[in-house]
Amino acid sequence: MSDRERIYLFDTTLRDGQQTPGVDFSVEDKIAIANMLDHFGIDYVEGGYPGANPTDTAFFSKRRTGRAKMTAFGMTKRAGVSASNDPGLAALIGAAGDAVCLVAKSWDYHVKVALGISNEDNLECIADSIAAVAASGKEALLDCEHFFDGYKANPAYALACAKAAYDSGARWVVLCDTNGGTQPDEIAEIIAAVIAGGIPGENLGIHAHNDTGQAVANSLVAVNAGVRQVQGTLNGIGERCGNANIITLAATLALKERYSSRFELGIDAEGLTEISALSHGFDELLNRAPDPQLPYVGASAFATKAGIHASALLKDPKTYEHVDPAAVGNSRRVMVSDQGGKSNFINELNRLGISVAKNDPRLDKLIAIVKEREAMGYAYEAADASFELLALRELGSVPEFFRVDSFRVMVERRFDSHGRVKTVSEAVVKLEIDGRKVMSVSEGDGPVNALDKAFRKDLGKFQGEIADLKLADYKVRILNGGTEAITRVLIESVDDDGVRWWTVGVSENIIDASFQALMDSITFKLMKNRKLAGRAAAE
Ligand SMILES: [Zn+2]
Repeated sequence: MSDRERIYLFDTTLRDGQQTPGVDFSVEDKIAIANMLDHFGIDYVEGGYPGANPTDTAFFSKRRTGRAKMTAFGMTKRAGVSASNDPGLAALIGAAGDAVCLVAKSWDYHVKVALGISNEDNLECIADSIAAVAASGKEALLDCEHFFDGYKANPAYALACAKAAYDSGARWVVLCDTNGGTQPDEIAEIIAAVIAGGIPGENLGIHAHNDTGQAVANSLVAVNAGVRQVQGTLNGIGERCGNANIITLAATLALKERYSSRFELGIDAEGLTEISALSHGFDELLNRAPDPQLPYVGASAFATKAGIHASALLKDPKTYEHVDPAAVGNSRRVMVSDQGGKSNFINELNRLGISVAKNDPRLDKLIAIVKEREAMGYAYEAADASFELLALRELGSVPEFFRVDSFRVMVERRFDSHGRVKTVSEAVVKLEIDGRKVMSVSEGDGPVNALDKAFRKDLGKFQGEIADLKLADYKVRILNGGTEAITRVLIESVDDDGVRWWTVGVSENIIDASFQALMDSITFKLMKNRKLAGRAAAE
């Protein structure tokens, strides 16, 4: 048994993070994100507003239970009705999940202006609602909205709101810096006063916003002051300047000795090495480029440019790194024409089962090609299969299974006999397989689908091998605006073995970019089959 105190991580990406401009999760997105958080070891996942929002209602009805406590979010009961007669509260308590977080005003000014009820009525709403959740057997949480601003305006009333929840059985009383303007020293002072006022730190949570760039700092100050639940969102998304970044918080609490010697999380050292993948996977899901300067997980977090730092870094990494990049699943990058960059490459190639000597001139050529193509827009970090094919073409060989002579795609927009708009896409692909010429034609839902179907319609003797190949995801990113925009297409493929791989294409033309990614996907699948066959023959 550890004698360290437990810190609970509470993720609100699916609820508060949903307030981010441009972010709108589907039910499937929410399930995928909840599974990622669960897998990582987050203690609480706040899923949204079941009963008040159709997407969230559907999400709660579909969600399987995982390790994390699934938390429903909503309002306390209305004034003037009993908790048992409030339909909103009943829907929250009735929703699938392990915990219910109720939000309440704790600033008397808001009670008067926004709710238009008396201070006493608000306290009664808090107490009765929390008691009803606790009586249902679920964990009850109270989110004290505007707590710090409210405390500054009327300390006794803000504390009374928090106390009403605690005394009624709330497992957690969460102190929110809703406007995000509170400073770290104020957070420390006010939390000390709350604990002195009768609510133990082990029942307190912190919910910080980043409006002065201090959401993470404020959360850590709160932990030092005694709170034991920390709320945040993946990559710090959230309205305005975002919420506390739960990735940064988890890494800091786990790796900085001043915290790790006193506290433990639900994430062990091995789990923490997946934190970079979690951060990047979330950005992929949002279809946005990861911020290279994110603490711990950004591509530049452990990058050093040429010069005195780089040479010192190569002698002893500790000289310029505050933590070991491997601890968070990131890697060191020394951007000189040098050994550092080369070893990164060799490591990556070894991971793919390709061995190459450090002084092999073909390696220099491959590095130059990758750099040149990445400057054109290719993203090999996100397209493992395309990278492997590129590397094999330079360092080994890739058989030419087929040759594409040409392809053509037509999109026609017309009116049908009822005057309704109809678009039809048709593709023609001309291939050569073993000296045999093949022409395939196919219609599809949109031009890329038509092209994919035509391409895979007749691959001659390879047709049986690609029967189980399916496209799992398709992502388009425009790399620079204006009329000369370059399009990058990423395609995820999957087969019946459950293997998934990503391929990339880049072009001024979205169809051509898609075509390149499709070609790589099929070639990779045929290569993979041969690798497996080779392995089976060797055994
Ligand atoms: Zn918030």
